[in-house]
Amino acid sequence: MHKVVILGSGCAGLTAAIYAARANLHPLVVEGWEKGGQLSLTTDVENFPGLPKGIQGPELIENMREQAARFGAEYLLGSVTAADLSKSPFRLTVDDKPLETQALIIATGASARMLGLESEKKLLGHGVSTCATCDGFFYKEKTVMVVGGGDTAMEEALFLTKYASTVTLVHRRDGFRASPIMLDRAKSNEKIRFLLDTVVEDVRDVEKQSVEMVKLKNVKTGVVTDAAVDGLFIAIGHNPNTAVFAGQLEADADGYLITHDGPLTSVPGVYACGDVQDRHYRQAVTAAGSGCMAAIEAERWLAGGHP
Ligand code: NDP
Repeated sequence: MHKVVILGSGCAGLTAAIYAARANLHPLVVEGWEKGGQLSLTTDVENFPGLPKGIQGPELIENMREQAARFGAEYLLGSVTAADLSKSPFRLTVDDKPLETQALIIATGASARMLGLESEKKLLGHGVSTCATCDGFFYKEKTVMVVGGGDTAMEEALFLTKYASTVTLVHRRDGFRASPIMLDRAKSNEKIRFLLDTVVEDVRDVEKQSVEMVKLKNVKTGVVTDAAVDGLFIAIGHNPNTAVFAGQLEADADGYLITHDGPLTSVPGVYACGDVQDRHYRQAVTAAGSGCMAAIEAERWLAGGHP
């Protein structure tokens, strides 16, 4: 029987682990399939406070991991495949192994949807990005491309105009999911160029480990072209990793967990932090902050401090 199990080993889960471990709760961190979360998929992190020279994403995660272990956090490689949250102790299955815990912190994150190209995967963190706020700064006076036709794509494209010389927004059809106001803002920005009915078929150059060229195909005419770019931002949505809790915790239409009063979910004793409950900020520092809140609330709940 564990006092606290933390699901997820990204910034939110590991911060929760640091706080829970320092509170002598001996947390068990179930690391998940995407060990280290989104930060482990990026390179330079320059906006995490207290690190004036910046740090590599995987190194930041490794430091957090070590920090939590120093105070007694333990790690279990694997993913939760079933959960019964009807009452505490909550029952979990991690792969085939059953676990019981009095309090549960869910930090399973949201995975960025990708186009599914082999080259895109290999260049992630080397010119291919899923976060303009994180990486836009590296594209001062450069040429970038954003893929998507929803609000995220518009927001990312608009944000990138602060740095890039040109932003090309590539969308697979000529209708948009984006709200009219966001679309209008993007359309009226002179740095943004729209390329519609177009899909990305390949990204180059994998061997040089940098983005230099994107192969595009017009889906109506079938014409294939190459476009020189310095960065490719994939903004086609995220999927929160919550399927295993479906029907047991309050979630929005897209599956993001609904929290109130900070990290509290609809079930007492179950807390959510990081991207699994945040579709808005999605930053390492906000995830870390919410992980801290989740651990403090779990500690208070275990001590009988709130309902
Ligand atoms: P959406 O699901 O709204 O949009 C995803 C976009 O990506 C669609 O245009 C879709 O095309 C395209 N797409 C999906 N898969 C592929 C693919 N494999 N290849 C090419 N294109 C693809 O996701 P968002 O992240 O944009 O938004 C999610 C939610 O968050 C929305 O409710 C949005 O309003 C909200 N949001 C609000 C913001 C704000 O108000 N400031 C900012 C960001 C998000 P197609 O249309 O053809 O399916």
